Amino acid sequence: MSLILGIDLGTTNSLVGVVDSGFPILLANEEGQRLTPSAVNYAADGSCIVGAAALRKRALDPKRTVTSVKRLIGRRSGEGDWQPPYQLSEIGTTPVQVSAEILKLLKAIAERALEQPVNRAVITVPAYFNDAQRNATKQAGELAGLTVERIVSEPTAAALAYGLDKLSERQKIAVYDLGGGTFDISVLEMREGIFQVLSTAGDTQLGGDDIDRAIAESICPTGADPAQFVEAAEAAKKRLSTEDSTRIDLPFYDGSISLSHEINRNDFEKLVRPLIERTRTHCLRALSDAGVKPDELDAVILVGGSTRIPMVRRYVAEIFGREPDISQNPDEAVALGAVIQAGILSGSLKNVLLLDVTPLSLGIETFGGLMNTIIPRNTTIPCKAGEMFTNAVTNQQDMLIRVLQGERELAKDNWELGRIVLPFPAGAKGSARVGVQFTIDANGILQVLARDTATQTDTVLEIQNTAVDVDDDRVEQMIAESVEYAFEDMNERVWTEAKLKAEELLPAVDAALMQFGDAVSDDERSAIMTAAVKVRTSLNAPEHDAKALKMANQELDDATQELAVRLVERAMEESLLRRGLV
Ligand code: ADP
Ligand code: MG
Repeated sequence: MSLILGIDLGTTNSLVGVVDSGFPILLANEEGQRLTPSAVNYAADGSCIVGAAALRKRALDPKRTVTSVKRLIGRRSGEGDWQPPYQLSEIGTTPVQVSAEILKLLKAIAERALEQPVNRAVITVPAYFNDAQRNATKQAGELAGLTVERIVSEPTAAALAYGLDKLSERQKIAVYDLGGGTFDISVLEMREGIFQVLSTAGDTQLGGDDIDRAIAESICPTGADPAQFVEAAEAAKKRLSTEDSTRIDLPFYDGSISLSHEINRNDFEKLVRPLIERTRTHCLRALSDAGVKPDELDAVILVGGSTRIPMVRRYVAEIFGREPDISQNPDEAVALGAVIQAGILSGSLKNVLLLDVTPLSLGIETFGGLMNTIIPRNTTIPCKAGEMFTNAVTNQQDMLIRVLQGERELAKDNWELGRIVLPFPAGAKGSARVGVQFTIDANGILQVLARDTATQTDTVLEIQNTAVDVDDDRVEQMIAESVEYAFEDMNERVWTEAKLKAEELLPAVDAALMQFGDAVSDDERSAIMTAAVKVRTSLNAPEHDAKALKMANQELDDATQELAVRLVERAMEESLLRRGLV
């Protein structure tokens, strides 16, 4: 059995772990710490040092010390409003390469602790990461010599860590993650060992760094650069999580002037409250997207180092109207979840299934530069969806498809992921049938397929980076056609969803019957078999009858209720055994 590492590649700190003899464990670095700073310092010759040693160089060598690179990964230059104190182009590196250096160190930490080479990993990313950011993270892993088996959203990982010993319960939970650089809020449902993200929201530019900067600016004498006080500010902030008041002393910080400040918790809270308050709208949005009221939640889990701040805990209690759950170590929950997911994938942990969602809507541009959503945000992944189009003009030679990601109504406000030009044989207007299909795999990575179905052939697609002018008439006609086919497309979408469900259900039922064959009564077995046959018949019928398949799925679900309960009990038992509780 080959080991798979679980990695939390954090903005501020990164962690690595593995399932060892049935237990998820996190591994300490050479300094004995499980948290390794996500910092890389580059020497003039291009060599670099990584982790705490690199962080210690930051004050002296700020232009060559890269921190918070996660705020840059997978972004186009100029995108986002964060200005790093260094220039990656001057250093001669890229966000992917810097992240790869951090991952190489984590791999080395694991190999030293485990005394064997390891080359597979699960890596977490913020739920709000888009396709490009997830892809870039995957690339970084590969550059570090790791096969990235799965990209998992951080709140999902945290929920997994929280929920491992509650497999038999049905719970709705929120994960509030305030780290160094990002804020994520997710609402999840766990039932019968299945985790499903109902919604996610957040802010990729909000975290403890902003709190440190606010403190630094507040103590900074006029004319001085606040950046030089950030480190002292962070240390003071951490002390204020347990103490009522603290001193910031920086004797002769510039050679002659000294700085000495007393900060009490009251001052601190006044200063950072506006930052913490920014999390509120995201929380409300996540709740409304999930269709969950605060009092329907079973728990609100806190993760991320910044949730150690007492005011954050009070504020979360205020938003959700309940005390947050602090059972998880806020620094380690995400990494622990990554390790558990890695353990499930490698087969060293069983009986847990993970479902994630798309963080942003995906679609294509249509009439008048509007966004036409194909996969709405918060759709459970892996998933597939598509639409049919036809040619608008006689003898049209090809069709341009702009692939977009975002929530805005206008295409120009959304992010263009790529363009596809699909050629087809010249013919009369309306003779071509072009299917555009979006597939998102379990890592949240998107593949777009455009197929000319009129000629029954798959056409090889080209993604072009160069801009192509879109003819308004053509697009107008395209949308008219898409409305014409909307009903069929809808049925097809429901069918596809039901088909996916059936394809998930059937093997799971077969496996469960194999495992519990002897414990199942003849009546129960024959009911299950009958229901399974119905699903298979629907699935293989020439006509796509979405309603019939959905009903058959439901019947099979009902027939296997007791079997499912037994599976969960077994999972519970194993989990308790692993923990040495029975
Ligand atoms: P990330 O996920 O961004 O890597 P972490 O979850 O490791 O971040 O959190 C790092 C942040 O938590 C930093 O801003 C750090 O200052 C802050 N932090 C850590 N411990 C404490 C504490 N005791 N009180 C307040 N903030 C803390
Ligand atoms: Mg984190």
